[in-house]
Amino acid sequence: MVIMTASTTFQPVLERIAEEIERTPGRGRPADYIPALAARDPRRFGMAVAEPDGTVYGVGDWREPFSAQSLTKVFTLALDLAREGDALWEHVGREPSGNPFNSLVQLEYENGIPRNPFINAGALVVTDRLHTRTGDASGELLAFLRAESGNPDLSFDEEVAASEAAHGDRNAALGHFMASYGNIDNPVPVLLDEYFRQCSITASCADLALATTFLARHGVRADGTRLLTRSQAKQINAIMLTCGTYDAAGDFAYRVGLPGKSGVGGGIIAVVPGRCALCVWSPGLDERGNSVAGMAALDRFTTLTGLSVF
Ligand code: GLN
Repeated sequence: MVIMTASTTFQPVLERIAEEIERTPGRGRPADYIPALAARDPRRFGMAVAEPDGTVYGVGDWREPFSAQSLTKVFTLALDLAREGDALWEHVGREPSGNPFNSLVQLEYENGIPRNPFINAGALVVTDRLHTRTGDASGELLAFLRAESGNPDLSFDEEVAASEAAHGDRNAALGHFMASYGNIDNPVPVLLDEYFRQCSITASCADLALATTFLARHGVRADGTRLLTRSQAKQINAIMLTCGTYDAAGDFAYRVGLPGKSGVGGGIIAVVPGRCALCVWSPGLDERGNSVAGMAALDRFTTLTGLSVF
């Protein structure tokens, strides 16, 4: 057990976790419903921890860019919540769905109001609202991620965006269905283009751990300005805990015990409020779309360090 104190660096615990993961067989399979993601090697593994002052520790492929996919839903939510506040919650709920991330079934029973902002339907609503407010949802998101990570080279991966658009019938169905209930403002093709571009953003564990530190700082950005109230930062952390890994959120809370958000590119971000933000990447997924080695690594991190919200 390596119980952390404020002055201990995270490097030894990251190295221990990487060694353990290296010895663990079974990595799941990369997402293949977006063909451009299918080619990644499931043995790749990286992990980074960023402290609120911008210090970053990392191990393995922690500087390797990967497809952020649904990790971006956390940042889009923060950007929209900062602008419109609680009015957002008239258009999207805050309850776990207990269903896969791209499920359609609840939407009809619940009159086109998605369960939460982290399933695809909910993220489409948040993107739509941010786009209405800014005229450039994906540009706002990219600018935010560049500023928080300190990496001006972050960009969209047009090949991944095009690959997803070409196989995006399910997201298109979600968009059109919600539009039929009046819950989407922009033309659905415009919304889908914005959404796919956001998902395609390519960034490393180091970039994404740093970009997530505003939640560890209770809503304060890297430059010291406040994006969210302390209460809003708490709310986003709570939604990450209950909804961030879809129908595995209960298992994630049980094993990891942190606010977290997964993406089908194999990334998971997590927050230890007041202490640090983490990002782990390994492209092999379980059947619920969460990185197998990523879940295992975060499980070991909170077990070894004693850092969890519980
Ligand atoms: N772009 C992916 C999709 O919409 C994001 C899903 C995910 O990362 N869970 O299907």
